[in-house]
Amino acid sequence: MAPYSDQLVSAATREFLARPGRMLIGAEWADAVSGETLAVVDPASGTAFTSVPAGDAADIDRAVQAARRAFESGDWPRMRPVDRERLLLKFADLIEANAQELAEIEALDNGKPVMMARHVDVALVVDFLRYMAGWATKIEGSTMDVSVPLMRDRELFGFTRREPVGVVGAIIPWNFPLLMAAWKVGPALASGCTMVLKPAEETPLTALRFAELALQAGYPPGVLNVVTGLGHTAGAALAGHKGIEKVAFTGSTEIGKLVGKAAIDNMTRVSLELGGKSPVIVLDDADPTMAAAGAAQAIFFNQGQVCTAGSRLYVHKSRFEQVVEGLSGIAAAMKLGPGIDPDTQVGPLVSAVQQQRVLGYIQSGFAEGARAAAGGAAGEGAGYFVKPTVLVDTRDDMKVVREEIFGPVVVAMPYDDLDEVARRANDTPYGLAASIWSNDLSRVHRLIPRIKAGTVWVNCHNILDNAMPFGGYKQSGIGREMGRAVLDLYTESKSVIMAL
Ligand code: NAD
Repeated sequence: MAPYSDQLVSAATREFLARPGRMLIGAEWADAVSGETLAVVDPASGTAFTSVPAGDAADIDRAVQAARRAFESGDWPRMRPVDRERLLLKFADLIEANAQELAEIEALDNGKPVMMARHVDVALVVDFLRYMAGWATKIEGSTMDVSVPLMRDRELFGFTRREPVGVVGAIIPWNFPLLMAAWKVGPALASGCTMVLKPAEETPLTALRFAELALQAGYPPGVLNVVTGLGHTAGAALAGHKGIEKVAFTGSTEIGKLVGKAAIDNMTRVSLELGGKSPVIVLDDADPTMAAAGAAQAIFFNQGQVCTAGSRLYVHKSRFEQVVEGLSGIAAAMKLGPGIDPDTQVGPLVSAVQQQRVLGYIQSGFAEGARAAAGGAAGEGAGYFVKPTVLVDTRDDMKVVREEIFGPVVVAMPYDDLDEVARRANDTPYGLAASIWSNDLSRVHRLIPRIKAGTVWVNCHNILDNAMPFGGYKQSGIGREMGRAVLDLYTESKSVIMAL
């Protein structure tokens, strides 16, 4: 039974869901070689509403071969950069034209509010592909005057070329399924690579619609392949495949380490975007109302299932009570509901496993002496809801303070001075992001270099721009996506030295 009422879902989405879920290998919409399938579950009701192939090593192998053929022969390797730009712009236009359908599919598959899916996820995808399209014509090398002591009489000339790295394997998580696909596919297609994309098993649907639109835009078959399947089968087969030149992974630090090791065994290039436990630091001059609203957005956006979620809140002791009261009030007033309902502010978590994991963390917090100033329990109904939760009376050594919860749960703690908060903010294996809330620019500037994180926001949180590099310090990853920096991940540099 469909888990949604027809009024909430467009005809285009109903048509997409009525088609059998198949993956794209070369020009073929394929079932898994094994014939196995995976159920796709609506997190708002716990109901399975469609299925996709459970691809494994055999399917990955076929997809890598298709990507290899497309990389080495046919139109793609000969395509002029300006035509790669044109194709990527057309792809972005098609995504924009189908934005509502993509947002609805994302909301049904992931649980996130459809308005967010439409105006954040899909909107960012369109912008990002357009931004990357511009880079297709701007991938440049440089020239050098080369001289060697023993060959003073020879004229030498040197230059560098940037070449596409080759066949890329991309493995992505379930929290922003379409956006994470775009973050890999955009730079790969701009720089002339081909790709095998493995979406998360929890959220395979938008990647399949994305691939349909890529074919419609005119990408040659094999340039983009999508294999749906489980992590330890399809994902592991892709990460360790000898036929690819690069692995681009976004997901947990635990799996990222496995993927990194598998890639390095083959000397496959690898970039890793991993977990976080990002601090939100409120200074004593900050407006408590604004800081509370900012802290709420930092943790509750996307049900807290955000790698940069502001999950540790440090408030100067002079403002602590006010900020926590404001934040708890916002948390308690948020409207929970199915993502597909346009009035929903907080959707369900992605899966029963994730809901149990987050509730388990809340219980561990209670067992260690924490108290809920808001939330602290599952939401009503059969869906995988967790109430927006603010934990207080927490200590730095508690599990809820140290580990990534990846749900709508923030720990709030007071501090005395900047030295103390800088030390505590950095007291984590992660280093993805942080935010500082203050209008005292001198103190903000002094704090920024002390925070070990790939992104520091000031008076905002979770703001991304296509031109700004994104990635983590420490165990939050290796490499930077977005901006000019991402081109380094998808190209090889070749040095050429000519004796004239
Ligand atoms: P996950 O690591 O469990 O899964 C991510 C992907 O890896 C999925 O496609 C999964 O199928 C695959 N996978 C699982 N086991 C594998 C294996 N043995 N070999 C190869 N692939 C395997 O992560 P998740 O639960 O889907 O996502 C949540 C995590 O992602 C969080 O830790 C979050 O912080 C992180 N994340 C990071 C960023 C970032 O940019 N830094 C962005 C989004 C999410």
